[in-house]
Amino acid sequence: MRQSQLFTKTRKEAPKDEVSKNAQLLIRAGYVYKEMAGVYVYLPLGLRVLNKVIAIIRDEMNGIGGQEIVLSALQQKETWEPTNQWSDKEVDVWFKTELKNGTELGLAVTHEAALTKMMKDFISSYRHLPSYAYQFQTKFRNETRAKSGIMRCREFIMKDLYSFSKDQAEHDMFYEKAKQAYVRIFKRIGLGDQTYVTFASGGMFSKFSHEFQTVTDAGEDVIYVSEKKGIAINKEVLTPELLIELGIDKEDLIEKKAVEVGNIFNLATRFSSALDLTYVNESGEKVPVVMGSYGIGPGRVMGAVVECLSDEKGIVWPESIAPFQVHLISLGKEGSVATKKAEELYKTFTDTGVEVLFDDRDVRPGEKFADSDLIGIPMRLVISDKTCAEGKVEVKYRKTGEVLFIEDSKILSVIKK
Ligand code: ATP
Ligand code: MG
Repeated sequence: MRQSQLFTKTRKEAPKDEVSKNAQLLIRAGYVYKEMAGVYVYLPLGLRVLNKVIAIIRDEMNGIGGQEIVLSALQQKETWEPTNQWSDKEVDVWFKTELKNGTELGLAVTHEAALTKMMKDFISSYRHLPSYAYQFQTKFRNETRAKSGIMRCREFIMKDLYSFSKDQAEHDMFYEKAKQAYVRIFKRIGLGDQTYVTFASGGMFSKFSHEFQTVTDAGEDVIYVSEKKGIAINKEVLTPELLIELGIDKEDLIEKKAVEVGNIFNLATRFSSALDLTYVNESGEKVPVVMGSYGIGPGRVMGAVVECLSDEKGIVWPESIAPFQVHLISLGKEGSVATKKAEELYKTFTDTGVEVLFDDRDVRPGEKFADSDLIGIPMRLVISDKTCAEGKVEVKYRKTGEVLFIEDSKILSVIKK
């Protein structure tokens, strides 16, 4: 992509009312646009990152047997009543609307009930189980505090997978697999070092659920980290009994602020019983399906990456989710050797599948460098008349600041590595 053609522009200042670091940087660099508090638009650069986060999650969900679907955001009241979730007292983040004839509708806050109801059409025998369906779908939540940028939105995409198993043992096996898939996801996205499997409240169905908590001061949760064990405990459930169960010494715990980037939950038969999702088992008995739910917010993850990995100059994307691999910067004047060489390299890169943002704009070098630091692409290539004369290209890594001068003939192999 040519930067001269990109309709978004970097800006010096974030909007005055934007208090979160992730949104400030993402807005300044042109990744997102703020429609209102808790509602953000993904711009061309931002969508590339979001799609990469989504692709990693999708790959891992397919890897554990997930089948992708998209449920509807418009939901009828009847879907929610059996589980007592239509009431504003029980679910206090509803956006509701109605049809012209007055029929009430809700904009889905989550999808356990909707999917359970739908699965009644597809699950009736033990031969249909286990089954795993997931989606990337827009949720609407009327969040009270929406001050965390893209980490807490009123409209956001969630990956939610739901598992349908014959019994608790089958559920437990999948639950463990999903947990490992989540560990891999956060590692691949670049948050492996900051993200802990965290014991959290399990609701009514099991002693605990597991949250994936990324340590950052921008988080709204408090967790206690055991570095020794590589796990954490949410403040909500910290008890002496749990510490004994996990073999953790209280002295080893460090209190940290963190953001929940994902969670996995044993739903047992809450939804299947209420909505009558049953199957006939091998002994011919009709029994309720055992369920689990597994959520991740790709936008929240993207925000957490910005919170954790940016520096004073701007964003620092991990390679796996960067909008482009290479930021090619031409310092040549019109008609110069450098301009010609930059154009040639741009063509070579696009022809060979290197994802490249090409700064071909007619602006000062200082401005190009500052924008490049703000945008945060992992590898910067600078083409000037000076480097051209030496038959070399300047390479600078955004993360380490390391600078190398590489011979023209070796550029492609360095990038591909
Ligand atoms: P929180 O306690 O932070 O409100 P939650 O318990 O409501 O989170 P879930 O309903 O389990 O979260 O949603 C699953 C995942 O969706 C979360 O782990 C998080 O990554 C993401 N998520 C939840 N709420 C939001 C939001 N308002 N904006 C962006 N992502 C969200
Ligand atoms: Mg919530």
